[in-house]
Amino acid sequence: MQGQLKAMPVRPDVDSLDLRPSARALEVREQLVDFMHTKVFPAEAAYEAHRAEKGLHDSSVPPVVEELKAEAKSRGLWNLFLPSESGLSQLDYAGLAEITGWSLHLAPEATNGQAPDTGNMELLHMFATREQSERWLTPLLNGEIRSAFAMTEPDVASSDATNIQTTITRDGDDYVISGRKWWTSGAADPRCELLIVMGKTDVDAERHRQ
Ligand SMILES: Cc1cc2nc3c(=O)[nH]c(=O)nc-3n(C[C@H](O)[C@H](O)[C@H](O)COP(=O)(O)OP(=O)(O)OC[C@H]3O[C@@H](n4cnc5c(N)ncnc54)[C@H](O)[C@@H]3O)c2cc1C
Repeated sequence: MQGQLKAMPVRPDVDSLDLRPSARALEVREQLVDFMHTKVFPAEAAYEAHRAEKGLHDSSVPPVVEELKAEAKSRGLWNLFLPSESGLSQLDYAGLAEITGWSLHLAPEATNGQAPDTGNMELLHMFATREQSERWLTPLLNGEIRSAFAMTEPDVASSDATNIQTTITRDGDDYVISGRKWWTSGAADPRCELLIVMGKTDVDAERHRQ
């Protein structure tokens, strides 16, 4: 195996990539590791106890989650995923997200870096109107509401977006959305106020432009 690795061709374009974290990322990393050990891991028992007490079909938020969010905010460990908020690159964030993965039920949400909100916030950050930003992006960035992403449908192989059957039709000043979605993570969260729905506005268009 070692012999095979040695025989690999040199790729100057790839070999010259600098994947080292920035000085600021190293600083945040140290703070994040401290947060994990002093606040997140000790909170896991309270989180598990809440879930055990409420049962499988409960969507209430264990109080310890909001306590951790307040603590992370006060430590500046908040919205690390968004370069314009954190001043970190996405390469820097990758290493930090790995650390929050050490306590998957608590740490991503505690630092406002949880799916699907992060992707939804990125989408709003890039494309939302001012009105949409005020209504959804600002409260999401503040951790006041949550959001969900509705793509998967019961009747089609939903990993391929071209199969999606939900239609979005313009009707005067409104859009009529017809379809059925399931497996939408977070839709039952009492704080969920925004669903980003995948559908087709033109079923006759070229396959990847519908
Ligand atoms: C815990 C959990 C959370 C989820 N959260 C969400 C959510 O928030 N929002 C949401 O919309 N969905 C969510 N889902 C649904 C999930 O994203 C879908 O199950 C996934 O996209 C796969 O779609 P599918 O189940 O229709 O499988 P399929 O699309 O039927 O795929 C099944 C398998 O077949 C393969 N396959 C499919 N088409 C082809 C092809 N043409 N050629 C070769 N191979 C193919 C796929 O790669 C896959 O291995 C969640 C699922 C889970 C388990």
